[in-house]
Amino acid sequence: MSDSVSIAFLSGVLSPLACGVVTVHTGELELSTRGDTDVIDITADVQRAAADARADDGLVTTFVRGSTAAITTMEFEPGGVADLRALLDRLIPPEGDYEHNRLNQDTNSHAHQRASVIGPSEQVPLVGGRLGLGTWQQLVLIDFDDRPRQRTVVVQVIS
Ligand code: ZN
Repeated sequence: MSDSVSIAFLSGVLSPLACGVVTVHTGELELSTRGDTDVIDITADVQRAAADARADDGLVTTFVRGSTAAITTMEFEPGGVADLRALLDRLIPPEGDYEHNRLNQDTNSHAHQRASVIGPSEQVPLVGGRLGLGTWQQLVLIDFDDRPRQRTVVVQVIS
């Protein structure tokens, strides 16, 4: 371990995880999106789903099913959302010479590539029953597909 890293223990008692008892609680969120890099703040929904686990400390995984959507964290405000969308338009433009589109008569290869780059899940520590996010850090679902979609987000708490 690097000398520059310090670890603060927030709790002095052994957690159930440390005692060898692991609880897994799984919930799902259903969301409608507009597609086309629709960025949706799901922090409150994930917090509610995580609260169902009635756990104090653990790990919350938030995962979106599908190959054209992603989950990440960001400061969710109009400027940040616009900048992220502009960045992705520059890096992975909707129009392009994409093999996926050519081989499959499809139109959404950019959506698949954006989803792969950002990734389908995030893990956030659960601390005192709350998502251990920063003040200006929200969990967002981003739907890159080129049409509106119904999405299922799996929220799994391990404690
Ligand atoms: Zn496709």
